Amino acid sequence: MLLIAPAPAPARESSVTLQLKWRHQFQFAGYYMAERLGFYRDHGIEVRFREGGPETDVVTAVVSGEAEFGIAASDLLLAAQYAPVVALAPIFQHSPYVLLTLDGTADLAMLDGEQVMLDRGAAEIRALLLKVGIPTDALTIRDYRDGVAALLAGEVGAIAAYSTTEPYWLRRAGVTPRMFSARDHGIDLYGDMLFTSKALLRDHPTLVRDFVAASLAGWKAALRDPEQAIALILADYNTQGLEAAFYRFEAVETRRLIQPEVIEIGHVNPGRWRHIAEVYAGLGMLPEAVSLDGFVYDPGPVEIAPRVVLALIVALLIAVLLGLLSWRVHSLNQRLRREIVQRERDHRRLAESEALHRLLTENSGDVIWMLDLDRWCFDYVSPSVQRLRGFSPEEVMAGPIDVSLTTESAVRLRQQLLEGAMRVAAGDHEGLFALTEIEQPCKGGGTVQTEVVTSLLVDGSGRPSKVLGITRDITVRKALEAKLRIRAAAIEAAADAIIITDAEGYLLYANPAFTRQTGYRLEPGRRLHSRVLKSGRHDSEFYAEMWQTILAGRVWRGELINRRRDGELYEEEMTISPVANERGEIERFIAIKRDISVQRAMERALRTANQRLRENLDEISELQQELAEQAVRDPLTGLYNRRHLDDALARELARMRREASTLVVLMADIDHFKRINDGWGHPVGDGVLRSLAATLRDHFREFDLICRYGGEEFLVVLPGTGLEQGQARAESVRRYFAAQRIALGDRREQITISIGLAVFPLHATEQAALIAQADAALYRAKRAGRDRVVVADPAIESEGLVG
Ligand code: GH3
Ligand code: MG
Ligand code: MG
Repeated sequence: MLLIAPAPAPARESSVTLQLKWRHQFQFAGYYMAERLGFYRDHGIEVRFREGGPETDVVTAVVSGEAEFGIAASDLLLAAQYAPVVALAPIFQHSPYVLLTLDGTADLAMLDGEQVMLDRGAAEIRALLLKVGIPTDALTIRDYRDGVAALLAGEVGAIAAYSTTEPYWLRRAGVTPRMFSARDHGIDLYGDMLFTSKALLRDHPTLVRDFVAASLAGWKAALRDPEQAIALILADYNTQGLEAAFYRFEAVETRRLIQPEVIEIGHVNPGRWRHIAEVYAGLGMLPEAVSLDGFVYDPGPVEIAPRVVLALIVALLIAVLLGLLSWRVHSLNQRLRREIVQRERDHRRLAESEALHRLLTENSGDVIWMLDLDRWCFDYVSPSVQRLRGFSPEEVMAGPIDVSLTTESAVRLRQQLLEGAMRVAAGDHEGLFALTEIEQPCKGGGTVQTEVVTSLLVDGSGRPSKVLGITRDITVRKALEAKLRIRAAAIEAAADAIIITDAEGYLLYANPAFTRQTGYRLEPGRRLHSRVLKSGRHDSEFYAEMWQTILAGRVWRGELINRRRDGELYEEEMTISPVANERGEIERFIAIKRDISVQRAMERALRTANQRLRENLDEISELQQELAEQAVRDPLTGLYNRRHLDDALARELARMRREASTLVVLMADIDHFKRINDGWGHPVGDGVLRSLAATLRDHFREFDLICRYGGEEFLVVLPGTGLEQGQARAESVRRYFAAQRIALGDRREQITISIGLAVFPLHATEQAALIAQADAALYRAKRAGRDRVVVADPAIESEGLVG
């Protein structure tokens, strides 16, 4: 029992110093927690933390005995070549070192000739630069100062930094850095690890073991409850005076590098150390095949759990009780312990590899597969095939490769693989890799477009026997490509001119319509600025307003006059849309330009034609009115003619009937008119007719109807007039005309008229009868000696008719 009981805690208190690599921060949270939670104290250890900084040489501090323990990175292996150090427990499974550049450095090669700021620990960044083919002497390496400030100020092109800290400050400054990690280039080193000197391990192995155990327990606590650790740092270790948000960022990033879910914290993997040694050797930083003996700490047999201890005790008691030989008990015990250790180790490795495998396959949308070229069947298909095609890996592996492809794709892929195999067999190693787009059937029907990267694997005899493939779903990409193709075709075929320019206005693209419209063509190797189209017809304010609009990110629409290559001016309708990049900076302008010269000219012509038409129409309507007037007027006197009178009198009579009113009709005739004609000629007679017409017009009211009824007979209708009033009017006009002296040649003579008068409804109620009554009265006026007004008398008239 005494043999296998855990060693008692040392009675004597040991005081040790842990030399940190850097200033206090979450990077060392596990140690603070171990101290605070009493893990060191439980082992009788009193610990002091020594803060580090850019100038701190942790290895020297530990080897010289200034500190018992230190924190170093994988480059401890480099230091181990001259300093007697032992790597105790890796805390960070991966290195936090990254090379940070500001956005815009797409490729590490762009750093060639740039200043890069490194600190003394950044060996793997040097390794990374070597690996990507940038010899460090091609770079200007500057000693580490305040990297973030130097990077922001543009003093250096890149800085070596921790992924756990600097990105926080850059982001806070509003900048998203680009991170280049050595891990992306196959250089996967440990990050922080605990180490000590060989001397301390030799002289105080228990202290070392206990210190490691307490530190790891502290780390587990810190990762379990990072908020507690952060509170502890803020309270006791915030020598840098930093904010909680910073430590939180650091905690999250640190966890990523420690990967506690995948690998037990502190787990030493000698394989990793060999890989690290090979990486350094490959870069010429270490000799080939350095020995790791004595460098990697072997904590000795694992402590056995109480349960196991109980089992052992029972076994031991039974053995004693049964009186079995003590060497057998001993050997059994040994074997059991070895088995337990081995099993734990296997279990841990299995869990580690399983977790990694799961991480890889679950996070990869690609299907990874292995094909046997003899059987044309899959040896392995990763589970993601189910997501891609609906089939389980087992279903896919059950059949030949052809079942997983459409007929056309199967033929093509087989042919390609066979060709590759033949090339490889003939020594052409280019044939090893191929990239193909294929189509694969899905379980629910339909197909999926995929891209397959294949690499042929060669067997011992140099013959390609297997294919390792990675299949990627490119449905979305294909659809996008098709969409882009259609758009590109539409732009090429567009009737409007379309150009794309850079932010300064230089053309990057012009469609054929642009060339047709302007005569300018975008030729390779020649820069063409959109200002060549300027006609000089717009003032600088016009263009200033346009630029102001589009540089503010708004769309400009307008019409302008431009000049073609041949000098001709043309009118253009243009829309310019600015295109910004993801940072909101305007990078391109897209302009759609339509030549509207023809349209505008046509519009102008149309306007003129319309104007002319309107004028013509006015003229026509005037003419029509005139014509209509002419139809009802007598050309000689301008009075209404008989045709008009017939209609107008009918209307007036109807009105008089409606209004129960009376109306007078006067029939006037010039006395002895024949004599005038005969004596003075017809034109003079015409003049007399015009004079009479004028007299009538002057004498009667606006609404009285005056018309030339026959040759020299005039008829006047006086609506709303009775007998007496009518008589008075007739007398008045007769007297007035007679009083005039009408010019006959060079003489002035008196001319008289006779008037017959009839009243509606007094003398007649019908139109024809009424006129007839007036006419009859006129006849009587003539008979009675002329130059008088005679009122109709129906009685006489009928007598006359009878007589
Ligand atoms: P009375 O006093 O009986 O009316 O005698 P009169 O000479 O006026 O006879 P009547 O009224 O029958 O004569 C009509 C003449 O008027 C006949 C014709 O030569 C003349 N006349 C008709 N129309 C015109 C015309 O437009 N111009 C001229 N100058 N003479 C016309
Ligand atoms: Mg007459
Ligand atoms: Mg007459």
